[in-house]
Amino acid sequence: MVSAAPTDTILQPAGLSKPSLAGLTRDGLKAALAAAGVPEKQLRMRVGQLWGWIYAHGVTSFDQMSDVSKELRRTLADLYTLDRPEIVAEQISVDGTRKWLLRLPKLGHEARAPEIETVYIPESDRGTLCISSQIGCTLNCSFCHTGTQRLVRNLEAHEIVAQIMLARDRIGDWPGSEKPADGRLLPNAERKITNVVLMGMGEPLYNFDNVKAAMDVASDDAGLSLSKRRITLSTSGVVPEIPRWGEESGTMLAISLHATNDALRDELVPLNRKYPISELLEACRNYPGLSNAKRITFEYVMLKGVNDSLADARALVRLLAGIPAKINLIPFNPWPNTKYECSDWQTIERFADVVNRAGYASPVRTPRGRDILAACGQLKSESVKLRASARPDAIDPAG
Ligand code: SAH
Ligand code: SF4
Repeated sequence: MVSAAPTDTILQPAGLSKPSLAGLTRDGLKAALAAAGVPEKQLRMRVGQLWGWIYAHGVTSFDQMSDVSKELRRTLADLYTLDRPEIVAEQISVDGTRKWLLRLPKLGHEARAPEIETVYIPESDRGTLCISSQIGCTLNCSFCHTGTQRLVRNLEAHEIVAQIMLARDRIGDWPGSEKPADGRLLPNAERKITNVVLMGMGEPLYNFDNVKAAMDVASDDAGLSLSKRRITLSTSGVVPEIPRWGEESGTMLAISLHATNDALRDELVPLNRKYPISELLEACRNYPGLSNAKRITFEYVMLKGVNDSLADARALVRLLAGIPAKINLIPFNPWPNTKYECSDWQTIERFADVVNRAGYASPVRTPRGRDILAACGQLKSESVKLRASARPDAIDPAG
């Protein structure tokens, strides 16, 4: 397991003269203001002011902070920026899905600037942003493209938050983005990004502290104010961290189940050898706050001839009996040189019928953004994957 202290201090990215305040926690912001000479007794008030400007209004310049004195605005602008990660590429799918390849500032020891991906999926009743928690992944799920890449490092808390801020910039999801800039905050009903899922690159529970700090920023009522009921963490099954995540974060949970017996799950999700299905489901049954109104989502990728028989479907509903659950059948998204194929549509429909009859509604996740390789498990381009093998600073995937 890779761990790192949560980052709420200001980073000085190599090669950048000024660090950005965008994405910092309240403590991080406080430290930045103290370093800028703001007196101790003013810190709380100033953090509150900046918090609103940065996270409720999405400002990108200190000049927009009209209730902050001109002098302090100038000092802050001398020392810091409000920059977002650099956009290397932005792709827009025919179905409206958008994918951004982002370049993060290099940290001191890094040979090259790391890149991550973030995806926005608009639907009629919601807009979901899929964000990354790590650069690469240490777990080698056999059907996942991210799993073929080395783990480069955990994302810092502010790098996780910055994905949400950048997406809101690009789709015009800040107050005044589309209407006259009257300073009015967008009511939740007008928000484009209503949901956030930690289903991009990486295993979020292996970066617990930073993901937790980032989701606290994302759900802060005076700022980005995303409801915790609309934030979902997806895990491949890091059992010991599940209860702690539930208690400390209060978000929704999704489990990448994908198989109903240990022999097959050992192969698909190798972490199962450490935390088998029975232990995983026990942790789910005990998930804090679990109820019919707050269900766990079980993700099940449809792999042709591997896990898609009707017997598998029946085993799935038997296995989940008694757990307040939703089931998400995910058509497998193929990637170059994978040995798997997506199940036939008819097979998926029959599988879904069994699941539907057991009382689970519309469980098949429609593939989105396929033309821009924006789907689950496909994040991060081939070119980046090839470069990873040459990285001296990469963490051993077995570590
Ligand atoms: N590491 C976490 C979250 C990121 S993966 C996890 O594994 O849960 C998000 C979801 O995409 C998981 O359910 C994962 O199993 C699924 N996934 C990965 N590769 C996929 C692929 N090629 N096609 C469809 N789903 C995939
Ligand atoms: Fe990592 Fe999740 Fe992919 Fe498995 S499915 S390799 S845990 S990102």
